[in-house]
Amino acid sequence: MKIIMLGAPGAGKGTQAKMIAEKYGVPHVSTGDIFRANIKNGTQLGMEAKQYMDKGLLVPDELTVRILLDRVAQEDCKNGYVLDGFPRTIPQAEVLDNALTELGDKIDYAVNVDVPDENIIRRMSGRRACLSCGATYHIEHIPPKKEGVCDACGSELVLRDDDKAETVKNRLDVYHKQTQPLIDFYTEKGVLATVDGTLPMDDVFAAITAILG
Ligand code: AMP
Repeated sequence: MKIIMLGAPGAGKGTQAKMIAEKYGVPHVSTGDIFRANIKNGTQLGMEAKQYMDKGLLVPDELTVRILLDRVAQEDCKNGYVLDGFPRTIPQAEVLDNALTELGDKIDYAVNVDVPDENIIRRMSGRRACLSCGATYHIEHIPPKKEGVCDACGSELVLRDDDKAETVKNRLDVYHKQTQPLIDFYTEKGVLATVDGTLPMDDVFAAITAILG
């Protein structure tokens, strides 16, 4: 099963993507996580990506597409995957579509987690991330057991640069201009399903599993 998660930054698609990956036994592929891992390891790719990410801008398509196609060509993606944060532009969607068509394959579902901008801004300021292991929390909705400390690895939790208020505004502008057109793209392909992302996490997941079967 090949699934794409769509939705504004902070809509909760990452959390849902991880839950889907676990239930359906497919890898969770997040381009944001791949970039952050590269930043942490000080790679050339990481240094390039960071310049854009810190400003709330998209990393250029050419670079992003290359890392994504490499990732989904790996053995563990053979039976499917959940893409979280990719595609984010029409050119990215077209490259993926062409690559899949060449393999006689296609995306099964594009799940749009719909949340209004006002809710997003409120949510993002409460997000906390562990830069060591990639776990994410929310001070109200998914608090760590001990404030400021990662449950999974014990490292310090931080407000990511790209979750800061000014950056969030930029990211929402970028989302509306560059990513929202994908909703029409996948509607035309007949694979779009929209769920109400303002509901509690488990209810959003129930709505998604009702669609995926
Ligand atoms: P995320 O964790 O998905 O919110 O991604 C964090 C940041 O990584 C984004 O704000 C972008 O700067 C960059 N990024 C992640 N995925 C993509 C993508 N598909 N295309 C371009 N930039 C991306």
